[in-house]
Parts: sequence; structure tokens; C-alpha cells
Amino acid sequence: MEHPAFVFTQISDFLDYLGPDFATLIANTPYLANLDHAPSFPFCCSRHYADLIKNAKEPAALLREVLPTKEEYADIPGFVMDPVGDLDAGKSECVIQKYDRRALIVTTATCGVRCRFCFRRNYPFQSSPNIAAEVGSWLDTHTDIWEVILSGGDPLTLSPAKLQSLIEAISDHGSVTTLRIHSRLPVMRPDLVQQHFEFLRDLPARFDCVLVSHVDHPDELDESSMEIFGQLRYSGWTLLNQSVLLKGVNDNADTLTKLSRKLFEQGVLPYYLHQLDHAKGVAHYEVSDEKAKALIEEIRTKLPGYLVPRLVREIAGEKSKTPV
Ligand code: SF4
Repeated sequence: MEHPAFVFTQISDFLDYLGPDFATLIANTPYLANLDHAPSFPFCCSRHYADLIKNAKEPAALLREVLPTKEEYADIPGFVMDPVGDLDAGKSECVIQKYDRRALIVTTATCGVRCRFCFRRNYPFQSSPNIAAEVGSWLDTHTDIWEVILSGGDPLTLSPAKLQSLIEAISDHGSVTTLRIHSRLPVMRPDLVQQHFEFLRDLPARFDCVLVSHVDHPDELDESSMEIFGQLRYSGWTLLNQSVLLKGVNDNADTLTKLSRKLFEQGVLPYYLHQLDHAKGVAHYEVSDEKAKALIEEIRTKLPGYLVPRLVREIAGEKSKTPV
């Protein structure tokens, strides 16, 4: 377990750290009503994210992303264990392939926080003893793959040695020209991203490198994320962001507009706005398609086209994301 200076795994420690003002906020906010027993998808929140909450203009929105509530126990039809068909698309313990000539690696179960709406909250993560060897041998027999996506969990929670050996194994395969990393760490654990910098900085000499961050609210972006994005961009990385449209977090045009503008200030382009994946336990975050489309239309009137994310949904078995 990590040192509590960096990560809270007990809700009570997290709430103590936030302080008495937040106890009042939680008590007065119906959708933040706390659990009275341990959630099935364990609680975890970094101290950095707790500090973002403390400094947020809209702290209730950020709290709603990480604080377990009783609503997670509601059994809602259509909300299932594997909402995006990861298991059917599994090619080995850690390789998933859904799309033509692109492969996704589930690198780890670990994240900087546990987002309560996570689409993989019920995923049966396997811990591969040698992920680099496993991925390398799968690529040996799949020589048409041109893009490899590191996902998880969060790939930047891997130790530098493990991340480097994995990327070296991918690099041995000449067909792979693009390396993409999906990470929420720039806003959750910037300290862990820093430890990879020297290695990440040199990768654009070997691949076309894309970082797809996951930021849902403008209050998640601060000087630490600015520093990380700035360094990666300067090194030649393409920076994109994906967000999830979440009821009570970012389901209004003002927040989405601010998010796009703040991402752009930090050198990141908004890429996808995902409709919620229907994982069991997350139904209380659902925003209707009608409302989602109206929000996109509204932000289209406030932003240049390049700052309007594509509203999409992932449908299990489909060959691409589906525009909403
Ligand atoms: S960072 Fe991503 S994988 Fe990790 S809990 Fe959040 S949504 Fe899930």
C-alpha cells in the first residue's frame, strides 16, 4: 500500500483531510450522501486530487467523481459487468483488440483514484507476471498492428522499469508506428508522471506519440497538469483529452466550455466526450442523449469548432466509437 501522504484508501481519512467545511457540504448535498459500509469497488483518492477538491470553484462536482454513495448499489437493468465488451475482445490476458490493426493493452489495475463511474470498475484484471514478454509475443504473430494503446487502470502507475520494458518490447516491432497512452495521472498523481519524464521525452524519436488524458472538469486542471502537458508537448507528443459526460459533474454548457478552453490553454485538444458506459453501479451518472446533444449544440455556439469534442458512445462489438 502506498504512503498515506499520497493516497487515501479510507473514506474517513479522506474526509478528515478535507476538513469540517466539507462535512457540511456533503451533509447538505443529497447526491453526496456517504456510504455506511465499504463499497464493493474500493475507495481510493490521491492527496493531489483532495487538494484539487479543496481549491475547486465547484468542489461538489469533483467530490461526486470520487466519493462512493449508496446509489452504487442500485440494480438498474442494462447496467452490466462488462459494458463495452472488453472480455469478448480479449486476445490474451492483457491484450484487447476491437478495432482494425490497433491493439489495447490492459497494463495494470492500479489508478491514481478510483473514479466511481469507471467503465472497468467490475473488470477481472489479471496480473501478468511479465507483461512485456506477453505483449511482445502477441505482436510477433500480429504484424499488421500499427497502433498500440496503453490503458488500464493507468499505465503511468507502472514502475519506470516495467513501463520501459513494455515499451521496449513494443518498439521491437517495426509495424507499430504509433504509441498511445491513456492516462488520468496528470490530474490525479502528477508526481508519478514526473518519474517517467526522461523516458517519455525521448519516445517521439521512435514512435508517433499520443497522450490521451482523461479530464472531466476544469477544476481538475492546475499548474501541475500544465507543467506535465507543457513538457510532453515540447518533446513532440500530441495531446488529446477525453471526458465522460457525468450528471452532477459536468452536464452543463458552462462547465464544458470552461473545460475545453482550459485544456487548450494547457496545450491539449478536446477529443471525445463519452456518453456513460453502462457499468453496473454507475446509473446515477447518466445524462440522456437528448440533453447531451443539446449541450453539444450549445457549446458549439460558444467555442471554435476545434474545441468542441465529439460526442460518442462505445457499443460492445462495434468496429468504432459511435457518434451520438
Ligand atoms: S482513471 Fe480511468 S480506469 Fe482508473 S478508475 Fe478512473 S476511469 Fe477507471
